Amino acid sequence: MQVYNGKSVFGGIAIGKISVYQKGEQQVKRVKIADADAEMERYAVAKDAAVEQLQKLYDKALKEVGEANAAIFEIHQMMLDDDDYNESVENIIRTQMVNAEYAVAATADNFAQMFASMDDDYMKERAADVKDISERLLAILHGADSNKVDTNEPVIIVADDLAPSETVQLDKDMVLSFVTVHGSLNSHTAILARTMAIPALIGTEALPLDASVDGKLGIVDGFNGKIYVDPDENILTEMKAKQQEDLEKKQLLQTLKGKENITLDGQKVMLYANIGNIKDLATVIQNDAGGIGLFRSEFIYLEREDYPTEEEQFQIYKTVAETMAGKRVIIRTLDIGADKQCDYFNMEHEENPALGYRAIRICLTRPEIFKTQLRALFRASAYGKLAIMYPMITSVKEVHRIKEIVEEVKAELTEQGIEFAIPEQGIMIETPAAAMVSDELAKEVDFFSVGTNDLTQYTLAIDRQNTKLDEFYDAHHPAVLRMIAMVAENAHKAGIWAGICGELGADTTLTQEFLAMGIDELSVSPGSILPIRKIVLETNVTDYKKRKAE
Ligand code: PEP
Ligand code: MG
Repeated sequence: MQVYNGKSVFGGIAIGKISVYQKGEQQVKRVKIADADAEMERYAVAKDAAVEQLQKLYDKALKEVGEANAAIFEIHQMMLDDDDYNESVENIIRTQMVNAEYAVAATADNFAQMFASMDDDYMKERAADVKDISERLLAILHGADSNKVDTNEPVIIVADDLAPSETVQLDKDMVLSFVTVHGSLNSHTAILARTMAIPALIGTEALPLDASVDGKLGIVDGFNGKIYVDPDENILTEMKAKQQEDLEKKQLLQTLKGKENITLDGQKVMLYANIGNIKDLATVIQNDAGGIGLFRSEFIYLEREDYPTEEEQFQIYKTVAETMAGKRVIIRTLDIGADKQCDYFNMEHEENPALGYRAIRICLTRPEIFKTQLRALFRASAYGKLAIMYPMITSVKEVHRIKEIVEEVKAELTEQGIEFAIPEQGIMIETPAAAMVSDELAKEVDFFSVGTNDLTQYTLAIDRQNTKLDEFYDAHHPAVLRMIAMVAENAHKAGIWAGICGELGADTTLTQEFLAMGIDELSVSPGSILPIRKIVLETNVTDYKKRKAE
């Protein structure tokens, strides 16, 4: 048995097989070969293996998500049999006398470019499919596991680090826990683990990412920040008991479902959920969220290889609005940049990306991207109680510029006779500048939501991604707490509400303090809703304030 320590991101115990996640990007080298027939044989074997993988995926998807959604794996199988594709690979191998990897990569590039340049939207989308089947072939030819976790049983994912674009590709049903050697407590992998309510560790520096770990039985103890590889019988028994105990506690919380979030002295608070994907909706409903306080829409962009169209976005926002059936759904506009990089945005390298070209700054300078999203949001607003929230605001001027663009969008939709409704519009308070001018900003918008992750980063001048600084990253710093109180006060003076959607909102040691500040809404990962409700129900805010004053 080996034991490694890390920092816990979410409590709980996970027991299962460990799967070491290797970084995607296959490096393709052009290698001269002597025997073209032998190379063609390698290609044929890889192709058969790819068809077999796709058949398994098809069968699984058919059972889980139905025929229409499984069809894509059938299409991929057919594409692998496409004569043009195969002839191109063969031609490159035979005429250039090069390796199959190179021939597949070159064919993929050529075909993807050809599809992408077509006028027909359906054909355009095939570019992504060509890349997908080619990556699968390359992974097989490299003898490496595909970078996507292809597994039939849920596993503990162990990785060096995971970028948001990688985590979105994981099949969430197959993940019991995340363990990363690097990564910080405020990284998006950590946030994702909390959203999924699964135990997760970061900073397990001594953990090797090799065969001594891969495929072994593992236990992640999210309470004590430990991962056991090949656990002995004693630990296994102890951890199974602990897992059972945790499960019972969670079941007890289920009795709080359906209850109003009201303190003993009658103060109400809205408890909403943070999500990054429509797949998270099931946990939102299971945990009895009053609404969605933060839908990180940038994840829609991160999981694609090109800009999502207005129609694609509209369908997603409409689904969320309809599923939440009249409950408020706050969708944050695109917050790309900093740690959330998207290749097709073609952003230049920056010395300080966290202080750079991100979020609303991209939207205001590339209005065509912003307008596509706004059009989709305004259209989807006709199907439920949608609200829009703008990230990374620093000034009233930015809000005025947003309003101008919104007016243009409304005028265009009206002129085109397209149905839409006007959603509530609020802003995130996640820069010290916004907190300091929150009195003026409050006159401009319908609500505030404090993004404590960035607000803490910018207030304390600490990069939230930098693991080495975790000990200095004090989210309870009085500077941060005073700003939150000030934001709530300024919101109320202007007659609007103020919430918190950063990770601090889920910190139960501060729930009473937030209630005392008059915070109106806490938006947290779905699994944190019921534990907070428990505290709300047991709190007397008047008494708490009295005790504090004493
Ligand atoms: C925040 O900054 O607190 C926030 C909620 O946004 P994100 O974590 O996505 O930057
Ligand atoms: Mg933020």
